[in-house]
Amino acid sequence: MAEVTCTRCSQTREALESAPYPDDMGQEILEKICAACWHQCKEMQVMVINEYRLDLSDPKAHEILEKSIRDFLGLNPPTAS
Ligand SMILES: [Zn+2]
Repeated sequence: MAEVTCTRCSQTREALESAPYPDDMGQEILEKICAACWHQCKEMQVMVINEYRLDLSDPKAHEILEKSIRDFLGLNPPTAS
C-alpha cells in the first residue's frame, strides 16, 4: 500500500489511492496528504457547503470550497498565471 509523508500531520501514513480531483490541486493532495487527513478534509467540506449554502453548480462556490480545502490542508495557493 502506498504511503505518503503528509505535509499536514507530518506523519508517514497511508496515501490516497488516486487524486481526488482531476486538476493540479488533486495531484498535490495525492502527493502531499495522507488518507486520514483527506478524510477530515471531506468532513470539513460538508460543513463549509452547509454553512455557506454553496451551490456547486456555481463556479464561485467551487472557488470558496477550493480555498477552504487549501487552508485546511495547508497547501500553497495556486501560482498566478
Ligand atoms: Zn496527514
